[in-house]
Amino acid sequence: MDMKQIYRQLGLDDNTVNQGGMTVISPTDGAVIGAVKTHNSAEIESIINNSQVAFKQWRDVPAPRRGELIRLLGNILREKKEALGSLVSLESGKIYQEGLGEVQEMIDICDFAVGLSRQLYGLTIASERPSHKMREYWQPMGPIGIISAFNFPVAVWAWNTALAIVCGNSVIWKPSEKTPLTALACQNIFAQALVEFGSDAPANLSQVIIGDRAAGEQMVLNKKVPVISATGSTAMGRIVGTQVAQRFGRSLLELGGNNAIIVAPSADLSIAFQGIFFGAVGTCGQRCTTTRRIFVHADVYDELVPKLKHAYGQVKIGDPLDENVLMGPLIDADAFDKMQLALTTARQNGGDIVGGERILTEQYPEAYYVKPALVEMQGSVDNIREETFAPILYVFKYTDLDDAINRQNDVPQGLSSAIFTRDVLEAEIFTSESGSDCGIANVNIGTSGAEIGGAFGGEKETGGGRESGSDAWKVYMRRMTSTLNYSKELPLAQGIKFDFSSL
Ligand code: NAD
Repeated sequence: MDMKQIYRQLGLDDNTVNQGGMTVISPTDGAVIGAVKTHNSAEIESIINNSQVAFKQWRDVPAPRRGELIRLLGNILREKKEALGSLVSLESGKIYQEGLGEVQEMIDICDFAVGLSRQLYGLTIASERPSHKMREYWQPMGPIGIISAFNFPVAVWAWNTALAIVCGNSVIWKPSEKTPLTALACQNIFAQALVEFGSDAPANLSQVIIGDRAAGEQMVLNKKVPVISATGSTAMGRIVGTQVAQRFGRSLLELGGNNAIIVAPSADLSIAFQGIFFGAVGTCGQRCTTTRRIFVHADVYDELVPKLKHAYGQVKIGDPLDENVLMGPLIDADAFDKMQLALTTARQNGGDIVGGERILTEQYPEAYYVKPALVEMQGSVDNIREETFAPILYVFKYTDLDDAINRQNDVPQGLSSAIFTRDVLEAEIFTSESGSDCGIANVNIGTSGAEIGGAFGGEKETGGGRESGSDAWKVYMRRMTSTLNYSKELPLAQGIKFDFSSL
């Protein structure tokens, strides 16, 4: 499918794609693939106001009917999967298979949300007072602000939107300034679902703000947006989280990771190899869940690490839309510079490096293709504490599991982690209270590629937010506790006597 076909299938006409002031560059070859219009401050204000109006109408629509809209959205995504997956690939640089995978995640969360729309259940709680009932209700919140990163340009919107909409909210999305086209394509798909749904859905139920961080900040600071779901770097989350807290809003933060895999002596080395390789090299090391560190037991180190080094030299790198390619480009020159800086620091700290150099410069002088880097490190040093958003894998040897777990946990981030072992005691220790301190702790599965059914997110500087499956929907709702008295008395809680019969 060529670019024109992709745009046509996704309803991106010339007026949308080519008539604005924000240039869109494809990381695959550095070519300009669009120039989109940005929203100014007054427009953002009116988007927020319109979202409030839409919310007040939508919250009154029964939740299972709201689910119907998301069912339609999922169906259209199924039809547009190839086109949207291709655009994800073109705009963010991830390989086509991963672009398709990202759209599949959108479809999966729609299915999940449709089922959820017939649940959204609260509790009934035993009351201490006679002839009283205590219940918990979950109510919609209002406009949900979504800020997303370039590396999951569409799935993050869907994870939030599918749930927020069935919960009775409206949504406003500020996508990454590096990937506005996929956002505009999703907006078209949502608009199509609205038409099929019928007139009981308000206009402006889902809106997009195109702009840079200042546009996002305007939404973050606005009290009319009670929930901000922000995905991106820890540096961004530190600012956004503070600003939302200052106005007593609610934030859901999905920030940087520094994910590790432990390979125990009993591990099935074949699957450990696959898990590490996909986790470290996939998406050119630009996933929040990318495997950035491995701790390999001394007994299996000399078998596993040379195999990895060999594979690092063989991996097919190039145009992400070529189906034979496993690794596309870095997003831009800035990402390349940060990768080189991290490698220089690693070298200065005694790291032994394979790969990491820029390639394909003649074919793609304006794009940044690199060989993935594998760095054998002797000790735990400060350069491994930061998340460098590039394919760098730091490799360490260990002999004692407790020590490996401590070293794995000894970073500021706490997103994803894994152990490869066939020893049940080791697996249970890793997932115990004294094991991994991350939001995700897998056994015999790598760090990346989570399913939507589980709650996704991490601890410490990853931000503490959870989205997607399990009970993550509760973040988009407000909890209401209601006690109802069906007696003819008014007993007070805690047995308090408040006798005013003499008055
Ligand atoms: P980024 O922080 O540069 O930008 C993310 C988004 O935040 C963009 O839309 C940007 O415009 C906006 N933004 C930045 N500063 C802002 C501010 N002060 N106020 C409001 N909005 C602001 O991140 P990126 O380079 O696009 O993405 C890579 C990062 O995202 C990595 O750290 C990665 O680990 C993280 N990430 C985390 C998850 C997760 O679920 N934990 C998922 C994907 C990416």
